[in-house]
Amino acid sequence: MVKMLSKIKYDQINWLSLHNYSGKETIYMFNFTNEQINRYSRHILLPEVGGTGQQKINDASVFLVGAGGLGSPCGYYLAAAGVGHIGIADHDVVDLSNLQRQILHSTADIGRHKAISAKETMQALNPDVKVTPYTEGLNSDNILNIIKDYDIIVDGCDNFPTRYLVNDACVFLNKPLVSAAVFRFDGQLSVFIAHKGPCYRCLYETPPPPGLVPTCQEAGVLGVLPGLLGILQATEVLKYILNEGDLLVGELLVINVLDMSFRKVKVPRNKACPVCGDNPTITELIDYEQACKG
Ligand SMILES: [Zn+2]
Repeated sequence: MVKMLSKIKYDQINWLSLHNYSGKETIYMFNFTNEQINRYSRHILLPEVGGTGQQKINDASVFLVGAGGLGSPCGYYLAAAGVGHIGIADHDVVDLSNLQRQILHSTADIGRHKAISAKETMQALNPDVKVTPYTEGLNSDNILNIIKDYDIIVDGCDNFPTRYLVNDACVFLNKPLVSAAVFRFDGQLSVFIAHKGPCYRCLYETPPPPGLVPTCQEAGVLGVLPGLLGILQATEVLKYILNEGDLLVGELLVINVLDMSFRKVKVPRNKACPVCGDNPTITELIDYEQACKG
C-alpha cells in the first residue's frame, strides 16, 4: 500500500500529484510549499483528508478555552495538524503542580502566563500556525467579542462559571462547542451545535452551588486522563473542519480509565432548556460566582 506524493512546480503554481498504488494519478492545485507537503504528507495521503482537507485545516480557526490539562494536548495536536489560527485564553500562570499533565508548559515556564507559554510551544512545533494568546479572564463583557471570529470553540476549562459562560456564548453566536471534563479517573466529552443538538445546559441546566463539587485541585486527576480527552477534543475539531465522520452531537462519551470503559449516552436537546430551548429565559450572559480557583 505505497502511495507516492510528489509536487511539480510550474510558474509559481503548485500542482500536487497523487499516485495511488495502482498507478492512477490525480493532480490537484494548491498553494502548499514543499515543506508543507512534507509536513502534512500523512494527512494528504488519506483520501478523507487529501490536499483539499489539509487546505481546510490550514484555513480554519479554533479557539481554546484554557491552556491547562485539556487545552495543552488539544492545542498541541491542532498545531501539529496545521490549524491556521489558534486562539488560546488562560489568565493563569504556570505552577509546578500543572506540569504533571499540562504538556504545553515546561519547568522553565513556571510563573509565566500559560497562554504565552502555550503560544511559544505550539509555534515552535509548527511555525505555520498563528497563535493569539489571551491572558485576560473570559467574562460576560469580553467573551462574545473574543470568540466571534473563530470557527469552532473548545472548552477545556476547569470551573463551572466559565463552562456556562462559554456554553451560552456559543449558543448566542451559533458556534460549535467541543466540550470535555475530567475528574479523578473519569472523563466526559460531547459536541454541542446549537439548535442541531443539545447544549451543555440541556444536560445540566444550572451550575452546582459553589463548593458542592470538588475540583481536580481538591480531588486529584490521573495526569494522562486530560491528555486522552484533549486529544479526543482535537479529533472532533478536525472531523468538524473536514466534515468527515459522525460528531458526538446529541451524545455524551463517558470514559473511565480504571476499567477502560467508553460508553456513549444519548443526550437529547431539551425543548425547555433555558438558553437553547423553544422559549429561552436566559438571553444574556451570566457571570456566576467563582467558588474557588480551580
Ligand atoms: Zn440547551
